[in-house]
Amino acid sequence: MGKYLVKILDAEFINHDVKKFIVEKPPGYTFIPGQGAEVSINLPEWKELARPFTFTCLPDLNYLEFMIKIYNDHAGVTNQLGKTNAGVELIISDAFGAITYKGPGVFIAGGSGITPFIAIFRQLYKNNQLRGNKLIYSNRTVEDVILFPELKRMLRADLINFFSHENTIGFAFHQIDRNYLIDVIKDFSQVIYLCGPETFVKDLSKLLVNLGANTESLVVEQ
Ligand SMILES: Cc1cc2nc3c(=O)[nH]c(=O)nc-3n(C[C@H](O)[C@H](O)[C@H](O)COP(=O)(O)OP(=O)(O)OC[C@H]3O[C@@H](n4cnc5c(N)ncnc54)[C@H](O)[C@@H]3O)c2cc1C
Repeated sequence: MGKYLVKILDAEFINHDVKKFIVEKPPGYTFIPGQGAEVSINLPEWKELARPFTFTCLPDLNYLEFMIKIYNDHAGVTNQLGKTNAGVELIISDAFGAITYKGPGVFIAGGSGITPFIAIFRQLYKNNQLRGNKLIYSNRTVEDVILFPELKRMLRADLINFFSHENTIGFAFHQIDRNYLIDVIKDFSQVIYLCGPETFVKDLSKLLVNLGANTESLVVEQ
């Protein structure tokens, strides 16, 4: 796998724990919306610690963009990225990832699992092909949502916010369960895209297959 040194051009928090990084794009570097790369920080004590992150920008731009949830509960890579700003170099691998667009369907994202869908939606919106897709975007609270105005502008009524830890008027609440899926998805033969924390993906995959979703039309990161 190729390795590329890229400088951070800009870095800013876009909510209380998600940071957006704009980085240089190596000449000729390509990816498909939904894919990501292994990323490490080019500092002696960090450069061997690569972690996977997804590109949120379109492939034809002359920079790369990541949106990264920063975990401050332990001294891992994202904690260090929280203290890392413009001018520092990252090491990125070639692009990889199983989540790419396979046709209209329902996207289910848990928290920072929205990132592959951001690139896919931006591409479809640009090509005027977004209609017919629906997003169920699950977060703990409204403070955890990222890019709400842009997602709303692109998806309009096809954006469904789900909050597991608050009962906000006008929004659904609690866990995504069997009845909720039946109510919102209805047709389980369509393509269903799923991305989020490991248990979120595991639990929902099981429920979806149980409800008739075909494993071939279930798009998840393997
Ligand atoms: C293909 C793919 C694409 C991804 N894309 C993105 C993306 O675009 N944006 C994004 O934000 N994330 C993304 N992720 C998730 C991201 O890779 C992880 O959040 C990241 O690797 C965490 O790295 P870390 O070193 O900070 O934490 P790690 O040390 O790797 O720990 C990961 C998890 O374990 C917990 N943990 C581990 N050790 C401790 C400890 N001692 N105390 C408390 N908690 C602990 C952390 O809270 C965290 O939940 C992606 C994951 C995959 C597989």
